Amino acid sequence: MFANLSDRLTETFRNLRGKGRLSEADIDGTIREIRRALLDADVAVPVVRTFTSNIRERALGAEVSGALNPGQQVVKIVNEELIGILGGETRAMRFSKTGPTVIMLAGLQGAGKTTLAGKLAHHLKQQGHTPLLVAADLQRPNAVTQLKVVGERAGVPVFAPEAGVTREDERPRGNPVKVAKKGLKEAEQRQHSVVIIDTAGRLGIDQELMRQAADIRKATEPDEVLFVIDAMIGQDAVATATAFQEGVDFTGVVLTKLDGDARGGAALSVAEVTGRPIMFASTGEKLDDFEVFHPDRMASRILDMGDILTLIEQAERTFDQAEAERMAEKVTKGEDFTLADFLSQMQQLKNMGSMKKMLTMLPGMGQVRDQIENFDERELVRTEAIIQSMTPLERDNPKVLNGSRRARIAKGSGMQVSDVNSLIKRFEQAQQMMRAMSRGGGMPGMPGMPG
Ligand code: GDP
Repeated sequence: MFANLSDRLTETFRNLRGKGRLSEADIDGTIREIRRALLDADVAVPVVRTFTSNIRERALGAEVSGALNPGQQVVKIVNEELIGILGGETRAMRFSKTGPTVIMLAGLQGAGKTTLAGKLAHHLKQQGHTPLLVAADLQRPNAVTQLKVVGERAGVPVFAPEAGVTREDERPRGNPVKVAKKGLKEAEQRQHSVVIIDTAGRLGIDQELMRQAADIRKATEPDEVLFVIDAMIGQDAVATATAFQEGVDFTGVVLTKLDGDARGGAALSVAEVTGRPIMFASTGEKLDDFEVFHPDRMASRILDMGDILTLIEQAERTFDQAEAERMAEKVTKGEDFTLADFLSQMQQLKNMGSMKKMLTMLPGMGQVRDQIENFDERELVRTEAIIQSMTPLERDNPKVLNGSRRARIAKGSGMQVSDVNSLIKRFEQAQQMMRAMSRGGGMPGMPGMPG
């Protein structure tokens, strides 16, 4: 999603590399680049203004740190400010202590509410909840059927007493507010722990839509009202979010279609403009294409510092559990990450469905994004061939890989020496990140950063 922005920012930081001291002109030049990159990514103008002026102020009065060079210091500041506009702390979901937790979804038609309803239900079910989906979108053709399909996929029951419309030109039937209320009652009777209410959206903001959503809110008193917004809608994001905030008010935001390659400014504007936290992200059409949103991890991805934590969590969900535990233990014990581990991780990635998405979470991957775009299973085969041509000593201790060993490995695996070199380089970046994590530093080694 943030490929372009990420490239532009890392490029800007690269220009600071090796500078012993940053003059005011250096800082202003950097800020100018950051401002342009954000505007080109469709981030809302007021957000860009606050963001850059905070960075400028902090960079000029830069906190002196013996550990970081000036370039790194700027990145540290940008990282922290980015986390700030993304909402700061991760906001966990609120659950009701008395009855079923009620979650209402609101947003424009096509934002991805119905798809999200299924994903959220699936996610909560994995956490031990017993969700019920409620079909209160009676307006969009086939929304009710679609919710039944996602419910079935997630293995979660759907309460749908009204069929809704099946064609564009049909007049809406049934009363969504009643459906929502009945859904709630149904959940209480059947002792569901969570109720997720899918509501209707229109193509644009209109009064009737807002009134209906507000009525459902009033009738069901949700614990969370999640405003679902398509991250690809660009500059319209702010107006849409503000309209929903005034019309319905919401407690959290869900960004959808973060897998798209649009500019994604919505993602970077909505939390700051509405003061409501981004809680979840939707990254594809499949049930598992869903993440809890962590501002710090997203900032880290945008700055191409990788998101190993999300990677590990997704790994735990889809990976071979024993292997995931082994990796986690390595990290906590501070044991060294070897090429054999690297290979095993790559092999596991194959099980995780969308390979490309996963790979972009590895630190420093922005620099090899083109390769990732062209990533195919053959890449894994090549990596396997290279690592398998190494001796056990070399796998455990890649430091011994001098020129002649690399040439031997290239020959043995039918690859070029440059392939071997590039694999080792990627491995070393991953290893550095793993080390930084075991040291528990909040600010890992910043691969790909000016050093
Ligand atoms: P609703 O009108 O808000 O209920 O939107 P839907 O859930 O029907 O989603 C609209 C379209 O966007 C559908 O074709 C979905 O498959 C698609 N969609 C939803 N979420 C995502 C996502 O995260 N990524 C991508 N690529 N497509 C999505």
